This record gives sequence, structure tokens and C-alpha cells, in this order.
Amino acid sequence: MRIATLNAPFRYGADPSQWITVPPQGYGGIQWVVSHLIDGFLETGNEVLLLGAPGSPPRPGLTVLPAIDAPSVATTLAEHAVDVVHDHSDGVMLPPYLALPTVGTHHLTGVPAVPVNCIYVSEAQRRQAGSLHAPVIRLPVNADHCEFSIAKKDYLLYIGRVSRHKGVHEAAAFAAAAGLPLKVAGPAWEKGYFNVLVGQFPHTVDYIGEVGPQQRAQLIAHARALLVLSQPVKGPFGTEWCEPGSTVVAEAAASGTPVIASDNGCLPEIVPRVGAVLNSGNNVTASEAERLLAILPSADELRNVALEQWGHVRIAEQYLRHFARAMRDDNWT
Ligand code: UDP
Repeated sequence: MRIATLNAPFRYGADPSQWITVPPQGYGGIQWVVSHLIDGFLETGNEVLLLGAPGSPPRPGLTVLPAIDAPSVATTLAEHAVDVVHDHSDGVMLPPYLALPTVGTHHLTGVPAVPVNCIYVSEAQRRQAGSLHAPVIRLPVNADHCEFSIAKKDYLLYIGRVSRHKGVHEAAAFAAAAGLPLKVAGPAWEKGYFNVLVGQFPHTVDYIGEVGPQQRAQLIAHARALLVLSQPVKGPFGTEWCEPGSTVVAEAAASGTPVIASDNGCLPEIVPRVGAVLNSGNNVTASEAERLLAILPSADELRNVALEQWGHVRIAEQYLRHFARAMRDDNWT
């Protein structure tokens, strides 16, 4: 199959002359998902044209094209024959009246801009969008981009944007109760939230800033546990935050690192096999934190679950079946 993959283009914060690439230079959940899926499509003998991520590295089977908006996508698709269009941009990059089979992946919270042929990344996300029958396909992870380690160090990790809906304060409170440092990696765009975080937990929070692929892989592989304590507060898309798919959970499991999560969005669906789920608003005591950290799954167990639940080739094969449906006009909502 020849697949046109549409990524939403964003400028890279640390160097705005560059676009965020696939895979990303630093923070970038959707870009990592697109990257892992492309790996899966190429490994199953397909060809991919990537639009919306200029500067991304091409390789055999993957052509990177310079389109950055819907009109330039239209021009590009008129010049290149493709079997299916796969949109990751919530419709932003889709030309109107596109006469090609099209499937979208919903990466955000709330209702997708294009509900026809939409694939959701969790049951919770699909429920929040009001859909009953559209397919749910988990986010992919290619373990080759992760470091696997059974040797853990005495720190907990939060990796992602430092924002209220991501529960970084709650992660720091958990780490403080556990008596362990919390390494925090990721961009801190909301300065007020960040300042309160470091002011309230000065002996717990070790802020590293945004990290690139190598440092990210090392940080995740050596953490005692990854904390994903996302909160049901107003998120970046206006609606109450419902963690859609959580890329970091799959990355942690593939690295042999367990996860301690809140019960927000997709987390109760995916975390029980790779860690523990806390109730939102639960203030964990020192003995509870110690007990939780002691019962987490082993690195080998986690790696097996990661391959089974999020393996990039398996996930790509699930997508290919839905691409084939769209190509024979067997559409869904
Ligand atoms: N990430 C990274 N460097 C950072 C912070 C985050 O590479 O400094 C990556 C992280 O490993 C994950 C993605 O950015 O792949 C964040 O995705 P997630 O789904 O967890 O968060 P969201 O997209 O909801 O913000």
C-alpha cells in the first residue's frame, strides 16, 4: 500500500527555524506515534509519503514532502499516486473534498473534527467523543527506540509537558511521600504552574528541561517508576482532560519501567498490566507509596506486555485492515 501520512506541523520551541520532525527532536507525543507507525508500515512492506513534518529524515520506503498546510497537501497529493490518506492532524491538513480513501487517528480529547473513518486510541477517548462503534487501536511503540534496563536507580520520573492537566504536582507529592526525588523532563510553558511546583517541592523536584531521544530513553529506562497522574481539569483543547492514549506509558513498559497512574482517561484501561492505578485526589501516605513501589511488575514482564499491547508491527497491521476497509468504501463513524 502507498500511504500518505499527514502530520500537523509545529515549530520546534528550542529552534523555531525548524519544524518538529518525525521522530521529534524533543517533546512530541503525536510525532513519536507517527514515527512508530511509519516503522510498522515500512516493516510490513508498505510505502509512506510523510507530509507536515519537513526536515524529518527520509529512508528507503519513506519519502518526506514539504507540504505544511491543506492547500500544499492538495497540490502534493495531485502529483503523487497514493492508495490511502492517514490523517493525524484532526483535519487541519486535509484538503476539502479530497477524493481519496481517508482514515484519521484522533490524538486529542473531545469530538474529532472528522468523525467519519476515525480511529480512537482508547475506549475512554472514544466514549468522551460520543462514538460507540468506531475502532479503538492502541498507540504503537517500537522498542528499538527505547532502552531496556533491569537496573533501576533511586528516582521517579515525570516526562511530558509540565502542565496542570498532566498532574506534575500530584507526581511530586507522590515522590515526596515515597522519599524519592522526582526527575521532571519536558517543556515548562506554564510558568506560574512550574514556579509553584518547584517552590512547593524544592527537595523533591529535579527539573531537567526538555530532553531529546537519547536522554529520554536513558531517563525512562533507569527510573524506579514513571508517574502519569493526569487530572480531570480543563486541558489544552478546552474540554476536561481525558488522557487519550499516553505515549509515555507504552515507552516505559518497553523500557522495563513500571507506571503509577491516576484513573484519568485511558489510564485505567492500559496501566493495570504495567503498574498501579490510583484514584484521583488520593493523597498517598509514605507507607502506601512504599507498598505500591514494592508490588510493581518486573522489567521482563513489562517488556512482554509492551510488545503484546503496543508492538508497532501489530498496531500497523490493525491500521492496514482499516485502510483496506476505507479503500473498499466500507466506511464507519
Ligand atoms: N518527550 C520527550 N522529551 C521531553 C518530554 C517529552 O521526548 O522532554 C516525549 C515523551 O517521551 C512522549 C511525548 O514526548 O513520547 C509526550 O507524549 P504524551 O502522550 O505522554 O503526552 P501529550 O502528547 O499528551 O502531551
